[in-house]
Amino acid sequence: MRNEDIERIVDEVIKQLGRGVACASGAPAQGDWGVFERLEDAVACADEARKRMETVAIREKIVRAIRRAAKANARRLAEMAVEETGMGRIEDKVKKNLLVAHRTPGPEIISPIAMTGDTGLTLVENAPWGVIASVTPSTNPAATVINNSISMISGGNAVIFAPHPGAKRTTQETIKILNKAVHESTGINNLMVCVKEPTIEVAKQLFTYPGIDLLVVTGGEAVVEAARKTTNKRLIAAGAGNPPVVVDETADLVRAAQGIYDGASFDNNIICADEKEIIVVDSVADVLKQELKAVGAVEITKDQAEAVAKVVLLDYPGPNARPNPKWVGRDAAELAKAGGFSVPESCRLLFVDVGRDVDYVFARVEQMMPLLPLLRARDFKEAVDWAMLLERNLRHTAGMYSRNIENMDAMARRANTSLFVKNGPHVAGLGAGGEGWTSMTISTPTGEGVTNARTFVRLRRCTLVGSFRIV
Ligand code: NAD
Repeated sequence: MRNEDIERIVDEVIKQLGRGVACASGAPAQGDWGVFERLEDAVACADEARKRMETVAIREKIVRAIRRAAKANARRLAEMAVEETGMGRIEDKVKKNLLVAHRTPGPEIISPIAMTGDTGLTLVENAPWGVIASVTPSTNPAATVINNSISMISGGNAVIFAPHPGAKRTTQETIKILNKAVHESTGINNLMVCVKEPTIEVAKQLFTYPGIDLLVVTGGEAVVEAARKTTNKRLIAAGAGNPPVVVDETADLVRAAQGIYDGASFDNNIICADEKEIIVVDSVADVLKQELKAVGAVEITKDQAEAVAKVVLLDYPGPNARPNPKWVGRDAAELAKAGGFSVPESCRLLFVDVGRDVDYVFARVEQMMPLLPLLRARDFKEAVDWAMLLERNLRHTAGMYSRNIENMDAMARRANTSLFVKNGPHVAGLGAGGEGWTSMTISTPTGEGVTNARTFVRLRRCTLVGSFRIV
């Protein structure tokens, strides 16, 4: 049979299966391309929609449609996100949207296992969970929806998103765009849904909502803690990080400076995995600083950093100092202006040499701003001790620059993080300039790591005793 004939038959089957997507709840059948007034209608319609995905061929077709639509709208959604949240950089968000559209694996990453032996045949298959509830952050509103949709639908699930209220327009627009594309391609609507007025209360309702068995939370420590305390579902939590980057005396310092500059300034430092503090061995600290300046970073004084901190942190000074969401993800030039000084508009990263002050506020807190402290450690061992102290066992991300394989091995083992990156920007660990698939949901406290479709399936085993060996 010719390839075109196979395609035509698959299309025909898909059309028949996808036809007539009526909603069981009695609500207006389609909502507004996945955006519903009422939570119960959203969940019911999503459940109805996912039952239409009866074949792997349909999932593949849906994922192709999502990738196409995400690529076509990457810029528009990036512009919307920056406009709505005030966070990040348009060009970087375009890259992020394209990254997830291209490098989030589809259904092909899921494969069954067959075991045969003297006693017969056992199959392990990947079953969907059903409708998954996904709580999403303000920092990557479009990219998280694109990424989660591909991963979760590839596993045969539908998704109800609980967007951050501060990013609801971008999140909802992404959901609508993706549903339209899927509907145009397969006749199925509402695989991705949310409510029109997302609030924290709605997210909390989803923690215990009947008929949903899997809760995925991508956000800060407070929401992960809240979900852990109240949910009665399987929880996949992608929480906060405070990723250190260590530079030892053997590192290629030109490469380290470029990597840190690119990584820490990417989308103005709002990716959870982005470098948040530099810890350099004292003997090479001055050279690293020169190289950072050579690639465009601006060194500021402690007084200047103090002036910025007073504006951009809440409850500062004090043990509870934390970033003011209004200042998260702002350009370096805006931070400088807040502190009463100026840097060139082209500058993407500020850094401040804080010597041995490991308790320094921008080292302690997950600032999510392109302003990094640079700490000078006596030697590699002290640098790793400080890195682990600042990572706070969040088990998120850490990185290092070195050419000493013993040091590289020692820190990789000690870090115990979900992501560990050597000799490159941390985003390389998410497939941006490094090998491997990408994700915007890096499960840290619950341990699934860089998620993909395999994370969102239930493993089911079926054993046949005594038959079906062919050798
Ligand atoms: P956030 O924690 O303020 O909000 C995340 C989501 O949780 C939002 O949808 C919000 O509405 C909801 N939420 C917040 N508090 C809640 C509560 N008590 N009950 C129910 N829902 C609640 O985070 P943000 O500022 O939008 O995003 C930045 C944070 O997310 C950072 O800490 C970052 O490290 C983390 N993050 C982690 C990953 C990862 O993959 N590990 C990815 C992106 C962001």
